[in-house]
Amino acid sequence: MKIGFIGLGIMGKPMAKNLLKEGYDLVVLDLNKLAVEELTALGAEAGVSSKDVASKCEIIVTMLPNSPHVKAVVLGEGGVIEGARPGTVVIDMSSIAPLSSREIYAALEAKGIDSLDAPVSGGEPKAIDGTLSVMVGGKREVFDKYYDIMKVMAGSVVYVGESGAGNIAKLCNQVVVAINISAVSEALILAKKAGVDPDLVYQAIRGGLAGSTVMDAKAPMMMDRNFNPGFRIDLHIKDLNNVLETSHAVGVSLPITAQVMEMMQAIKLDGCGVEDHSSIVKYYEKLANIEVTR
Ligand code: NAD
Repeated sequence: MKIGFIGLGIMGKPMAKNLLKEGYDLVVLDLNKLAVEELTALGAEAGVSSKDVASKCEIIVTMLPNSPHVKAVVLGEGGVIEGARPGTVVIDMSSIAPLSSREIYAALEAKGIDSLDAPVSGGEPKAIDGTLSVMVGGKREVFDKYYDIMKVMAGSVVYVGESGAGNIAKLCNQVVVAINISAVSEALILAKKAGVDPDLVYQAIRGGLAGSTVMDAKAPMMMDRNFNPGFRIDLHIKDLNNVLETSHAVGVSLPITAQVMEMMQAIKLDGCGVEDHSSIVKYYEKLANIEVTR
């Protein structure tokens, strides 16, 4: 069984490497030639176009930035849809708008091609370890058929519902993460401004109810002034755009998410778009005129 893998960025590259390690044959594609060369050196074949990749594979995985990229690669000219045979599957693991997932699903279904929206959570470290959390939308029987492939890249793979449900779950995930990073930032800035070592406050509270995976991942980065991504502010803004568009479409108001979105927009204007989303703390540091160093 050959797997096509399109999108070898921060996440896609280690995910593709884990499939190779598990013994699958891979045909890979990315605009970044260096990433492609890294994978071919490990035994993958390089594809020449999305259509070419699809024509050579039974399974096509995409791991691209956002909806327009996935639509172009899957449905565009020279895209997956032109090369894929009926009975094959497209597993889109990118985080994109749920409505786009449904459009892609319908266009592929009309050609007899199965598809799943299967975005991930966990970031680069879990992509490397193969312990991502995958949330999946699509037909239940298609999910069951390809569960084992997704499990190679993940610690948990959960079926959430029909097409688009995987990306709805991902948007929920991004709401919790964005607000949680802001909450951690507020706590650390309060500690620092009150003259208490933020690291000791972190150590004191991390085992209690306030503790979280986000706190353990991001508080040390903030205090170490390490804002290397990880997950870029630009990508989180992309996700919150999708969140707010979807929330307005389904008729729900998300006031705290909207406020965190504005904070992200402000630090992006300060040049932090390419930094890790833990740089939300810089918004608070400007307000307080202090840094949350230890
Ligand atoms: P990235 O920007 O590092 O990688 C995207 C890759 O897609 C790049 O290598 C780019 O060259 C390639 N690409 C873009 N257009 C292409 C095209 N037309 N043909 C071939 N290749 C193309 O992004 P990433 O951090 O790997 O994120 C990928 C997806 O996973 C995003 O939707 C992101 O929101 C999501 N995600 C990221 C993280 C994280 O921590 N980085 C965590 C969970 C989910």
